Amino acid sequence: MTDRIYYTDQKLLELIKTEFDFVDDKGWFELYQHKQDKTFWRLDKWDKYQTQFFVRLETIDNWESFDDSEFRVELLKKTRGIDLTRKCIWNNCENLSLRGVVYCEKHAYFEMGLRK
Ligand SMILES: [Zn+2]
Repeated sequence: MTDRIYYTDQKLLELIKTEFDFVDDKGWFELYQHKQDKTFWRLDKWDKYQTQFFVRLETIDNWESFDDSEFRVELLKKTRGIDLTRKCIWNNCENLSLRGVVYCEKHAYFEMGLRK
């Protein structure tokens, strides 16, 4: 688990089952602790309309309200990649667009609701 955040898929869910201990359950999230390195991670509860993420927490204070959107945006950028030939079409935005969409990662995430 070298990255800060992951998209949750079947393989990751299996890994969570075997390598993590379940700690707590609040609202939309579940809290887990890695058995070996003792790091804390937050899992989005499954929802068929939402992309599910698994994010490492620096602290478990108010873990259920931790805002991980900057990591989600970075993951979106890393996954999609940047289109070096096109700028984001959002008004006055100077960022390059993501591959396959006409917006940069921030506008794709916050304005268009793109998660993956
Ligand atoms: Zn933009």
